[in-house]
Amino acid sequence: MSGIIDKVVLITGASSGIGEATARELAAAGARLFIGARRGERLKALADELGGTVAWRELDVTDGADFDAFVDAAAAQFGRIDVLVNNAGVMPLSPLAALKRDKWKRMVDVNIHGVLNGIAAVLPRFVAQGSGHVVNVASVAAHMVMPTAAVYCGTKHAVRAITEGLRQEHDEIRSTLISPGVVATELGHDITEPDIAAALKGWRQKSLTPDAIARAVRYALEQPEGVDINEVIVRPTAAD
Ligand code: NDP
Repeated sequence: MSGIIDKVVLITGASSGIGEATARELAAAGARLFIGARRGERLKALADELGGTVAWRELDVTDGADFDAFVDAAAAQFGRIDVLVNNAGVMPLSPLAALKRDKWKRMVDVNIHGVLNGIAAVLPRFVAQGSGHVVNVASVAAHMVMPTAAVYCGTKHAVRAITEGLRQEHDEIRSTLISPGVVATELGHDITEPDIAAALKGWRQKSLTPDAIARAVRYALEQPEGVDINEVIVRPTAAD
């Protein structure tokens, strides 16, 4: 059985929250990590803290060429790539009637195109090596729709569909969806409607810490090659 310690893992959105916690969890398990996000100073601080098996590069997941370069840089650094964790995401909630087209576009760009750009960047490599693992971070919002979250939920439903499609099309590639419930992170810091920001604060009264999601990612990664964890849903105890 090959353990997590052998793996080269790429993580997007590792500058905060769930991505940062996942980097900590997987580094502790001995994985070699290549972490990305737009805020390079945070990535550098995390890589410096975690030590020699963690490298970083600034990445905007909405830019396909940038994602290709990110993956090439990781391969140059470590010689191979075993896992991509597509974690980067945004959640600037608003009601549809507010017509916040810019926010709709940003959610679609980051949450859907970001995941697709990641898949495009690693898929030829995974097919050529006959193995690989794509872990997409969706949400319980991939299973339900809530007022003010129509577009966000739409993007996460899409991530769920794309993950399942990847699984169906590629026997040689493992495909995992991680669907967190409410987690205390910076997500939603860009919500501009005060009532929605207040509601989010209320939901977070009962929330997970990001390490709970990091352990779910680790669980999927440490399975033997013949085992594909298709989805893990993680909610705080007694959540709705
Ligand atoms: P954070 O806001 O803490 O982290 C989001 C990360 O995404 C940051 O590292 C940010 O980095 C990165 N990011 C945003 N835009 C881009 C971009 N264009 N290119 C590259 N990186 C980008 O939130 P979470 O940790 O909570 O979110 C992680 C994932 O978990 C998201 O997909 C989110 O939808 C999902 N999720 C979160 C839940 C929660 O309750 N917190 C619940 C369910 C799902 P930077 O700004 O430096 O680029």
